[in-house]
Amino acid sequence: MNRLSLADKLNLNKFEVDEGEPHILINNELCKSCGPKSCLLVCPAGLYSEQNGEIIVEWAGCLECGTCRAVCDKKAIDWKYPRGGFGIIFRQG
Ligand code: SF4
Ligand code: SF4
Repeated sequence: MNRLSLADKLNLNKFEVDEGEPHILINNELCKSCGPKSCLLVCPAGLYSEQNGEIIVEWAGCLECGTCRAVCDKKAIDWKYPRGGFGIIFRQG
């Protein structure tokens, strides 16, 4: 049996994006004094990046695992589930 790669599994997911209503907001003022910047390392979908000194999250592709919120010591991440009917629809596992 062929095993799917992580990228292949992620590609099976479907997203109903709530345009203009991000369910993850970053307080970048708090990020400026953050040493480890753990959010850049832990997101299983690789949605966090640092651009021009700011932390960016591509929230539309969120797997809703909550890991980023859990690892942010400074509580800089305002995270909630997307509104009903929006967000990820898992198709694998
Ligand atoms: S871990 Fe939290 S405080 Fe640190 S860079 Fe990421 S969002 Fe900002
Ligand atoms: S909740 Fe999970 S998938 Fe979504 S941005 Fe945070 S770490 Fe990434």
